[in-house]
Amino acid sequence: MPLMTGEQYIESLRKLDVKVYMFGKEEKNWIDHPIIRPSINCVAMTYDLAHDPEYEDLMTATSNLTGHRVNRFTHLHQSTDDLIRKVKMQRLLGRKTASCFQRCVGMDAFNAVYSTTYECDQKHGTHYHENFKNYMIYVQDNDLTIDGAMTDPKGDRGKGQGAQADPDLFVHIVERRPDGIVVRGAKAHQTGSINSHEHLVMPTQAVGEADKQYAVSFAVPSDAPGLFMVYGRQSCDTRKLEPGADVDLGNKQFGGQEALVVFDNVFVPNERIFLCEEWDFAGMLVERFAGYHRQSYGGCKVGVGDVIIGAAALAAEYNGADKASHIKDKLIEMTHLNETLFSCGIACSCEGCPTAAGNYQIDLLLANVCKQNVTRFPYEIVRLAEDIAGGLMVTMPSERDFKSDLKVPTASELTLGDWCNKFFKGAEGVTTENRMRILRFLENICLGTSAVGYRTESMHGAGSPQAQRIMIARQGDFETKKKLAKTIAGIKE
Ligand code: SF4
Ligand code: FE
Repeated sequence: MPLMTGEQYIESLRKLDVKVYMFGKEEKNWIDHPIIRPSINCVAMTYDLAHDPEYEDLMTATSNLTGHRVNRFTHLHQSTDDLIRKVKMQRLLGRKTASCFQRCVGMDAFNAVYSTTYECDQKHGTHYHENFKNYMIYVQDNDLTIDGAMTDPKGDRGKGQGAQADPDLFVHIVERRPDGIVVRGAKAHQTGSINSHEHLVMPTQAVGEADKQYAVSFAVPSDAPGLFMVYGRQSCDTRKLEPGADVDLGNKQFGGQEALVVFDNVFVPNERIFLCEEWDFAGMLVERFAGYHRQSYGGCKVGVGDVIIGAAALAAEYNGADKASHIKDKLIEMTHLNETLFSCGIACSCEGCPTAAGNYQIDLLLANVCKQNVTRFPYEIVRLAEDIAGGLMVTMPSERDFKSDLKVPTASELTLGDWCNKFFKGAEGVTTENRMRILRFLENICLGTSAVGYRTESMHGAGSPQAQRIMIARQGDFETKKKLAKTIAGIKE
C-alpha cells in the first residue's frame, strides 16, 4: 500500500494493541477518545493531502531505495530541493491544521539514522545501515507513521547517564542475546507517540565509553510487549469532554499530542538494531536529528503563524477595530516575524549538503539559528495576537450561556442567551457567534490545548534554547572571524 488515505491510516491504528493510560486508568478505545482524536485527525491530514493533486509535489517524493512514489514524511532527502520542499510541506500542514501534525519526528529520525548508520558501519564494520535500509523500505511501502524518540527523562540534570541513582532515567541496554537486545527506560514528551505505528529510538545526548550501554538506537512496534504510554494532559483538555462542545474548543478538529513512553524490558530483534554500544556515534546521531528537527520548526510553526495572523486580523474586523493604524502595524510586525522564521527554514535547506550515505543534510548552524528564533518570535506573535484580540478572549461566558434559553427573571424577560448575545455583539453585521469563535480559537492557540504546540513547544521542542546556543558556539567558527578582523585591522602577531 504505497499511499494510505487518512481514513486508512486511522483504521490501521485499530489493528495495534497500544497500551495507553490517561487520568489514572487504561484507555482501551483511545482512537475515538475526544481528547486524543484531534491529534489523530492531524496526522491523518498528512495522508489525505498526499492524494490531493494540488500538493503532489510537496507531499510526495520518489524513494531512492525503491523508486516508488512515497509520502514525503517517509522520504530520505536527495537534494537541497527536497529539503526546501520538506519545509514548505510543513508550512502547508501548519496552515491546514493550526497544530502540531506530529509526523515530522519520524521523518527527521529517518534521515539522521540513515547517514549515521552508514558512517558507523564504515568505522566499526557493523551492519546497521543495511538493517536500516530494509526498515525504511518497510516503512515507505506501508506508509507508516513512526515516532522518532529522542528525549530521555534525564533525572538529575547535574549528573550524566551513568551517574543517576536510577539507571532507567536514560534508555539503555540491559541484556544482549544472540537474537537481539533487551532495553529499559523511557522517552518523555514524545510527540505523536500514541498514534504512531512504530517507535524509532535514538540516544538523547552524546555518550562516553564508560556509559556505552546508553548508546542505543532501534525500532519497535508501538504495541511491543513491555511498552506502554501515559498521555500528557494539556491546558483546557477536559473541555473536549463536555457534551456538544464546539465553539469553546477553538480548534475542534485538530490538536497535538505528547506522551511518556515506557520501555519495561522490551526485546529488540537484531535486524531492528541501528546502534548498539558504538558510543562514539551517539553524539552524531543526536546532532543530526536535532538539526533536522530545528529546520522543521521553520516550516510548521510558520504555517500555524499564518493562521494566527489571519485570526488576529479577523478578531480586529469583528471588534470593528481593523481600520486603526496600530492594528495594521501589529499585523505587519507579526508577518515580519513569521516570514523571518520561514527564511531561516529555507536558508538552512538551501545551504544543505550531501552526507557520506548520500542523503542530504541541512546547514547545521543555520538550522540552529532557525530554532533559536523560534524560541522567541512565536511568543511575540502570540503577544500581539492577544493585544489585538482584547481581554474578552479570556473573560467570555461559555458557549452554553450564549445558547441558553433559560429565562432570566428580570423586567425584560430575556433569556440568558439573549443577554450574552446583546452585550458581546461587536462590529455591525458580524454575528456574536463568529466573534466568539475567533476569540476562542485565539485562546486555544495562546493558552489552551494548542498552546502546547505553538508556545511551549516552540521553546523546548527540538531542544531548549541553550541546546541551540551550544551548537551555534560550536559552528560559529570564531577563529576564522578573528583572522578576518586581524587582516583588515593590520594586526601581525
Ligand atoms: Fe512536526 Fe512541528 Fe510537530 Fe515537530 S513540532 S512534529 S516539526 S509539526
Ligand atoms: Fe516538536
